[in-house]
Amino acid sequence: MTKRFIALVDCDSFFVCCEQKVNPELKGKPVCVISNKEGCVVSRSKEAKKMGIRMGEPLFMAKKEHPKGIYIVANHDLYAEISHQVMAKLREFSPLVEVYSIDEAFVDLTGLKRLYKMEYIDLASHIRAKIKEDLDVNVSIGVSSSKTLAKLASDKAKKFDCGVYAINPRFVTEELKKTQIEELWGIGRNLTTLFHKSGIITAYELVSQSDTWLDKKVGIRAREMKHELLGETVSPVSSEVKLPKSIQNTCALGTFTSDINFIKDAINYHIHKGCAKLRRLRAKSGVISVMLRTKDFKVFAEKKVLEKPTCYEWEVSDISFKLLEKIYNPSILYRSSGVIFDDITFDSAEQLFLFSDTEEDSKNKRLAKCIDNIESRFGKNVIKTGFTRSSGPVYD
Ligand SMILES: [Mg+2]
Repeated sequence: MTKRFIALVDCDSFFVCCEQKVNPELKGKPVCVISNKEGCVVSRSKEAKKMGIRMGEPLFMAKKEHPKGIYIVANHDLYAEISHQVMAKLREFSPLVEVYSIDEAFVDLTGLKRLYKMEYIDLASHIRAKIKEDLDVNVSIGVSSSKTLAKLASDKAKKFDCGVYAINPRFVTEELKKTQIEELWGIGRNLTTLFHKSGIITAYELVSQSDTWLDKKVGIRAREMKHELLGETVSPVSSEVKLPKSIQNTCALGTFTSDINFIKDAINYHIHKGCAKLRRLRAKSGVISVMLRTKDFKVFAEKKVLEKPTCYEWEVSDISFKLLEKIYNPSILYRSSGVIFDDITFDSAEQLFLFSDTEEDSKNKRLAKCIDNIESRFGKNVIKTGFTRSSGPVYD
């Protein structure tokens, strides 16, 4: 494979950055985002870090120790939307963008040096400035010739707060001598212990081992890592979107209830969230399950294999309410509900469907597009489909 130039673009304090983007008054303040469930700190602004608020710290503890901190409950829909914008911006530079997580992506820059008439490190700075200018999102970028080195470079960019950091594979030895094994991408606690037991402490000591030794002692992944650390592109950037095996939307009802309307409302909320996600992925689901968890933590669930996969709320709603009838008992109090979408396939696969009702499907597509457009303009969950009632549970 020809030598590649790979960037790892990583958003800085992403959740906090999103909150500051929509509410600029929060800029320059000690802001923390708190996870929904555990109530722990999951993202901190520079000011919050300086104040001494720790990552993963429970909210009650952080508030007690740092009462001046600003604590905001995570809004994952907002983060997903802004992540989408960042990824779209990256695709303006290169078609080869591999979304690694909500706030990280690998971008293959190979060949763009000529197009932009600048060195790769300058191109990375240009991308960084453009994301800041157009989206008001701060990113750190690592550049090198393999994903493993690009990831290491981006960690250094964050560590030294320099925005962009490049590792030239020709001078990689010095960098590897300074890098501890546990700093490497994909090396967890178990592998660290394994390497330490064999006397391998730095990344340089890892690359000094023979392929056979690494294969035998650790496995193929370690050998691949060695070659990536030496600057070879073992794992290329792939823009292929991998579909999730399933989409699970479950949530507490907020109260113990046996009110069928209340439960249906919650089910509809899950359906809408799941269908919107399926459409974002350009996918459909072929198996729908509905789940109810009782006050005593007993779980009741029913599923249906669909004749024709779908990503439309009104179709899933009909199916789900029938499934709900099978598991619902008016004399039981429930604590949570959920809708699970399985057998997820790309929408294009449906073209092979023999009895596809094209007219109806194009109607469905137009209606779904309307809903998605309204939401992207006015915010998530501003529109509801199917069953509605005047008051119901309040969701995040
Ligand atoms: Mg990040």
